[in-house]
Amino acid sequence: MSILVTGGAGYIGSHTVVELLNMGKDVVIVDNLSNSSILVLDRIKEITGKRPEFYQIDISNKELLRNVFEKEKIEAVIHFAGFKAVDESVKYPVMYYENNIMSTLSLIEIMTEYDVKKIVFSSSATVYGINNPSPLVEEMPTSATNPYGYTKVMLEQILKDVYVADSDWSIALLRYFNPIGAHESGMIGENPLGIPNNLMPFIAQVAIGKRQELSVFGNDYDTVDGTGVRDYIHVVDLAFGHIKALEKISESKKVHIYNLGSGVGTSVLELIKTFEVENKIQIPYKIVPRRAGDVAICFANADKALNELNWKTTKTIADMCRDTWNWQSKNPNGYRQS
Ligand code: NAD
Ligand code: UDP
Repeated sequence: MSILVTGGAGYIGSHTVVELLNMGKDVVIVDNLSNSSILVLDRIKEITGKRPEFYQIDISNKELLRNVFEKEKIEAVIHFAGFKAVDESVKYPVMYYENNIMSTLSLIEIMTEYDVKKIVFSSSATVYGINNPSPLVEEMPTSATNPYGYTKVMLEQILKDVYVADSDWSIALLRYFNPIGAHESGMIGENPLGIPNNLMPFIAQVAIGKRQELSVFGNDYDTVDGTGVRDYIHVVDLAFGHIKALEKISESKKVHIYNLGSGVGTSVLELIKTFEVENKIQIPYKIVPRRAGDVAICFANADKALNELNWKTTKTIADMCRDTWNWQSKNPNGYRQS
């Protein structure tokens, strides 16, 4: 029996596939490569010695997805596939609703057809919206401020409704905080196309000389140094969170909701400083006005995942900075050759 990983060629998916293979699981990846590279498969093979089964399909296409379930024996699904850029979702809302919602509906339908009723879903801390104070706990009300966030709020609701209708389903909704870092080999990592929106990929591109300087979005927040505070989590810790969630949904059938974060907030300036010290590289930056829609502080209460999954983060901000730079310096153009 295999674990089907949608979006398994992407950033978080590829790291999770590595850990699944390391623990001896059989893995099938489905990914349309809309935001990833086929070369990831070679890198996964180099790290683990194993090459997962791979189907280059859009999971919204039920015929093609059915074909995968027909050929492979799937026991559970980890569902990463989707678009994830907030700004882009504001510009192209229909594209976001279509890709994120339709693909998940298609997946649920085909899973039901094949009686595969275990799913781990990539949700996000974005579902806490802008009104809940940190530390954020799973019971807080959810909301969104942009189409990307709404797709996560809606997909959580859709999956809860699927469970209400059929309690044979077992579902984990994992609310990631801010994943950064890379596999310690430097073989796989985050590979943003165009100008990065997120802080760490931007820092990495300044470090490698692709961007001149970082813009720090505001230094007048009510935080330790005035800059925004987030809960950064190493992508390998995050990958292990999925393994624990898979175990959980195999033990008990319900909708399990977990924050995957460290429980600790780090400011923009603290992250820059750690990157500079750890990698001995200067990151030139300038302070610019706040970015619309940003909250001052966002970090997790991570107790539930610790108590129920026996999972917590193990890696430090220094580890995240070192591993990001290791990946970026070994792969200045990501998976692209030039
Ligand atoms: P990513 O873009 O690197 O990976 C997503 C993968 O899904 C890509 O390889 C892409 O090609 C594939 N894909 C997209 N639409 C598809 C479709 N219709 N059919 C088949 N494949 C498709 O993103 P990531 O950072 O690895 O994020 C994975 C998931 O985690 C996403 O759902 C994202 O919303 C969620 N998430 C990410 C973050 C983050 O900061 N990276 C934070 C919270 C939640
Ligand atoms: N940020 C910044 N400059 C950038 C990108 C981000 O100062 O080029 C800040 C942003 O305002 C926030 C923090 O860094 O306080 C993390 O931003 P990111 O987009 O990575 O995550 P999110 O805000 O979505 O949690």
